[in-house]
Amino acid sequence: MPEVKLVGLKKSYGKVTAVNKVNLTVENGEYVTILGPSGCGKTTLIRMIAGIIRPTEGKVYIGGKDMTSVPIEDRDIGYVFQNIALFPHLSVRDNVSYGPRAKDLDQEEQGQISKKYLEMVKLLDKMCMFPSELCGGEQQKVSLARALASGSKLLLLDEPLSALDSRVRVDLRYELRRLSKELGITTIHVTHDQEEAQSVSDRIVLMRAGTVVETGTPEELYVHPRNIFTANFIGETNLLEGWVKEVVGGTSSIELRNGGLVKVAQTNIKPGDAVVISVRPEFVFAANEGMKATITDITYMGTYWRIMASTEDDEEVSFDVTTMDGNSLTIGKELYLAINPKTAVLYPKPEDGVEEAIKLE
Ligand code: ADP
Ligand code: MG
Repeated sequence: MPEVKLVGLKKSYGKVTAVNKVNLTVENGEYVTILGPSGCGKTTLIRMIAGIIRPTEGKVYIGGKDMTSVPIEDRDIGYVFQNIALFPHLSVRDNVSYGPRAKDLDQEEQGQISKKYLEMVKLLDKMCMFPSELCGGEQQKVSLARALASGSKLLLLDEPLSALDSRVRVDLRYELRRLSKELGITTIHVTHDQEEAQSVSDRIVLMRAGTVVETGTPEELYVHPRNIFTANFIGETNLLEGWVKEVVGGTSSIELRNGGLVKVAQTNIKPGDAVVISVRPEFVFAANEGMKATITDITYMGTYWRIMASTEDDEEVSFDVTTMDGNSLTIGKELYLAINPKTAVLYPKPEDGVEEAIKLE
């Protein structure tokens, strides 16, 4: 039985539809992120799962039971928000033992629960301090310990790391996943940060304008995005427009708008079709033929160089070279760029154009 099942879940505010008929199943013990640009309906969705917002239509099942009309306090969930909401007048220890389950226990048992979860988030040594004496990352760990201490098997996280410094954010990602897996908890984590989603999730649910665009493992969404929006939102990509010239054997030759000719290992198309190629910068390289381009920018990224080049029709193409090869490239240099045929993904050209297809709202 899945832990969470959403069926046709919808929330409207007058004319605004914040969430539009979302169907989603989250398995027991799964770590799922709801990813999407700001305003796409993530918070509204997770609040309907939590019981803070009442859906306009549809059902929320938790552990197989219809919970649609059940208030938050009776849903047995742990919830962590972006804005850390600790009780300022309570010590770290008392904040953690505040959970509904801990309230019925005697002092000693409450203390033990606090200790157990503070140890998990590595804050045992700060249990007598007050929230204002902790830094943001530590405060968020206390919120997490408090949510876990409630004993609930379902953890809902709404942008839990967004208010933190980037370094702390990255460290805490691993902690979230580790704790969730260690405790066998089902976790639904809302974020607008695709890197965060990729690094913590078993599965990502990508949303746009109130609807689910695509669901898959981080790797599926990166390597084989079924949708141009996904290709553009998850990681970085070049979207190149062109026409199918010929389909021979296992490869198609695509004549690009920028004048180049490239090969793609995809054959479910026919000559003359208007297409868009998505190819990630790490799979574009300098070659003897392909797209003619001029280097316009070179950025040192530490483990690689990111090169920007402009094609003959002023289309921008980005590609990466290893730090060893980067020294031979200079701004203004002309070169040909080719792509690795197996790493590109082809899409039929969207009716309303590429810009519209990747727009964030
Ligand atoms: P996200 O969390 O993805 O940024 P939200 O779920 O907060 O998105 O909001 C989705 C959409 O619903 C937005 O257009 C937002 O303005 C709208 N919305 C959210 N809450 C309300 C509300 N209480 N009244 C009216 N519109 C709302
Ligand atoms: Mg939000």
